[in-house]
Amino acid sequence: MKSYRKELFFNVPARSGFVNITTEVEKCVKESGIKEGLALVNSMHITSSVFINDNEQGLHHDYDVWLEKLAPHAPVSRYRHNDTGEDNAEAHLKRQVMGREVVVAVTQGELDFGTWEQIFYGEFDGRRRKRVLVKIIGE
Ligand code: ZN
Repeated sequence: MKSYRKELFFNVPARSGFVNITTEVEKCVKESGIKEGLALVNSMHITSSVFINDNEQGLHHDYDVWLEKLAPHAPVSRYRHNDTGEDNAEAHLKRQVMGREVVVAVTQGELDFGTWEQIFYGEFDGRRRKRVLVKIIGE
């Protein structure tokens, strides 16, 4: 069995944002030389997510509105986590809803997606450099 590991770096210039990382993960699959296996992609931070969905701007706007309704950033005093002096409690909650990782099958050297599936990095506490792990195993 072959194994491949790579860290991808993102620095989203705003508090939150979505980045399509599909092309970067596809590059990893090529680099790995693995033809049949599994690709795991996970955020290495507890205030950002990796998820699969549609590459459609309206949907991304809808996520923003929905997540802000579920867990508004302000007032920061509403969250016990922020008693520690942080202001990112809501980013932890948003990360939980949007998920930590995705696993995609690798078939004939390609990510084996459904028709509209794309991989996104979801940032909820940005303006700093953060990491995403790509681990691919197979033959
Ligand atoms: Zn925190």
